[in-house]
Amino acid sequence: MLKKRSLQSAQKARKKNMVNLRFDEIPAQWYNILPDLPVPLPPPQDPKEGPSRLQNLPNLMIGECLKQEFSTERWIDIPGGVMDLYAKAGRPRPLFRATNLEKKLDTPARLYYKSEFFSPTGSHKVNTALAQCWYAKQQGFERVTTETGAGQWGTALSYAAALAGLKSTVFWVRSVYNWKKDRLSFMKLLGADVHASPSPITSVGKVLYDRNPEHAGSLGIAISEGLEDSQKDSKATYCLGSVLNHVLLHQTIIGLEAKRQFELFNDYPDSVISCLGGGSNFGGFALPFIADVLKKGKKIRFIAAQSEVAPNLQGKYEYDFADYAEMTPMLKMYTLGHKMDMEPIKGDGLRYHGCSPIISLLRNKGYIETIAYSRDEKHVFEMAKVFMEAEGWLPAPESAYSVCCAIEEAIKCRESGEKKAIAFNVSGHGFLDISGYRNVLGLD
Ligand SMILES: *Cc1c(COP(=O)(O)O)cnc(C)c1O
Repeated sequence: MLKKRSLQSAQKARKKNMVNLRFDEIPAQWYNILPDLPVPLPPPQDPKEGPSRLQNLPNLMIGECLKQEFSTERWIDIPGGVMDLYAKAGRPRPLFRATNLEKKLDTPARLYYKSEFFSPTGSHKVNTALAQCWYAKQQGFERVTTETGAGQWGTALSYAAALAGLKSTVFWVRSVYNWKKDRLSFMKLLGADVHASPSPITSVGKVLYDRNPEHAGSLGIAISEGLEDSQKDSKATYCLGSVLNHVLLHQTIIGLEAKRQFELFNDYPDSVISCLGGGSNFGGFALPFIADVLKKGKKIRFIAAQSEVAPNLQGKYEYDFADYAEMTPMLKMYTLGHKMDMEPIKGDGLRYHGCSPIISLLRNKGYIETIAYSRDEKHVFEMAKVFMEAEGWLPAPESAYSVCCAIEEAIKCRESGEKKAIAFNVSGHGFLDISGYRNVLGLD
């Protein structure tokens, strides 16, 4: 048996590289930034022509999520049932100090990463999927429908639906559906009904499918299919995995945990970094820290890492639709245009034409910087490999952008001698996407 004293000395000798909370220390409320924004968030609008999308919103969305979308309450209670599901999904998730990576990079910076890869489906998306399915079940729905691009959202929703006792239907962008066989099986194991999009089973999809059965698809098209499918069935509701205010709200559990964990490390970040597609993991991680900047005068750099195939934060800040078929209201956001064709990449979760209205507003007011990496993804994945060799975790292809950006910032610190604390979010693991790495890095 290990003696008590040796246990204590082992603890003392430890170089602290991980902290976690106890389950009863998990934040019991999500943080809603809407009342704290520097100016009010421009509301969604109807287009000049056609039927009112705003009036149709209650038919598209889960009631509680719609309420949260416009709530001015700063703190919103996480229901006990959702807390139980969070426990099942492995919350809280540790904050690591990347001691090995710091050594490898020979940087004076302190690097910290949040481990959203500790997720049953591999990504942060379960944080909102569980909440949405729980609310859907409460409201009496029997089925949820959705779209997915990279496949992580589809997997997360299939998982959450299974746990909540709901059926699930997923429309999956064909260019990714075709290569992520393991994820397809994963969703089917969870009982999901999965269709490559554009599919012949919706009218939006059929037009495109008939023109070209191998149509690569896009997130915007798949959203339109998910919406249409839910509209045809009164027992079904549609769920969206990013962009909207309530999704970012649910994701703030990431940053709220991280803030408490930073206290346990007795440190505070100078830079907060994450990858950004629609903005949910970036928002979830960053918004609780942005609150400190807005209300407490803290100085933090926020950097969103993107792909040059979808650098939506460099697009136009204007009203645009969230989906291809123009079924959603128009949102004021940075956008590349909802009909934009974007080349497939391995980090496909970053390939979306618009950025969350909340993040867009903060970007417009100068709080958020952005960087867009090359479409060949070689540099990004090489940096993910550097991270993996040092820390042992394989980031999701999307998360690799966050890792890459953090490494570049750490290298700048080596050159300048600055002892900054850099926090980055690893939004998911890449265990189901290794073929993407194999393909880009030539690992055969
Ligand atoms: C979906 C996804 C993203 C991108 O979506 P956001 O809404 O911008 O977070 C990033 N990382 C992972 C692991 C994802 O699954």
